[in-house]
Amino acid sequence: MAPALLSSAAKPPLDLLIAAPRGFCAGVDRAIRIVELSIEKYGAPVYVRHEIVHNKHVVDALKAKGAVFVEELDEVPDGLPVVFSAHGVPKSVPLEASGRGLDYVDATCPLVSKVHRQAERLAAAGRHILFIGHRGHPEVIGTLGQLPAGAMTLVETVADAEALVPAEPALLGFLTQTTLSVDDTAEIVATLRRRFPAIQGPRGEDICYATSNRQAAVKEMAPLCDAIMVIGAANSSNSVRLAEVAERSGTRACLIPCAEALDWAWLGGVRTLGLTAGASAPEALVRGVVEALRTRFEVTEREMDGRPEVMTFKLPRALEPA
Ligand code: SF4
Repeated sequence: MAPALLSSAAKPPLDLLIAAPRGFCAGVDRAIRIVELSIEKYGAPVYVRHEIVHNKHVVDALKAKGAVFVEELDEVPDGLPVVFSAHGVPKSVPLEASGRGLDYVDATCPLVSKVHRQAERLAAAGRHILFIGHRGHPEVIGTLGQLPAGAMTLVETVADAEALVPAEPALLGFLTQTTLSVDDTAEIVATLRRRFPAIQGPRGEDICYATSNRQAAVKEMAPLCDAIMVIGAANSSNSVRLAEVAERSGTRACLIPCAEALDWAWLGGVRTLGLTAGASAPEALVRGVVEALRTRFEVTEREMDGRPEVMTFKLPRALEPA
């Protein structure tokens, strides 16, 4: 028998289902482009406050082009430009940048900015806002920072929603982080609507199209798979939610940043593997995992039919081509 056939026959078969849609969303695409165009416009270095999106590979690629990542504005030297990340920033941040005379470019995803404007409208209508999200996430810090302290209360769980004792139950509004679990959020919103029938908010929630489409794709794929692997960073909210959605659909799931983190023992006994990627994970990482799997398995690859995504967002005017 030819050696090539021998080595091929030695590999166990693996049916690989690849979710669609997966990976980059329009907000992430736009944020990365904003950093690249800012480097072209101003020249390196361009400072970026916080990881532009939660993915080390994206951040490293931009560092190589001349971006410098910092956590706070006071780390940005006077006279150099700074980009704000896709997650959004409290109002105090652009104010401080203006006060220091810094050139800044805001890469906040337009869908996050939309929530910021909704918060202002609800507050202007005299409503106290219940904000559904995860404490400490930069998007939550940014949204809470759109209004003065005390104007919003963070609600993380159904238990939080049950325990609320608002001063004026008839004057409430709610908003949500964009990258939450669709199912968990629906439960929290239902609790709020039951307890406070006069509450105002979006018809469903503010979870973005990319987050809900990727979760729907995982739910569709889960019954066909022995296990699902999500490519994304541990601090990427929408990636973590994808792994949770897979587990709740009854499938074993793991979240890995890239092929180098593959745990071969975890794949023991898996005949059909689902693969997806969070909204901040580049497609190159998906292909890297597929190629790594091919070194150990006889892979049959199939991409699921998914909802096509056509969303694009305009660039800030300052960076549009002349
Ligand atoms: S995940 Fe949603 S909210 Fe976040 S950048 Fe992408 S489109 Fe915008």
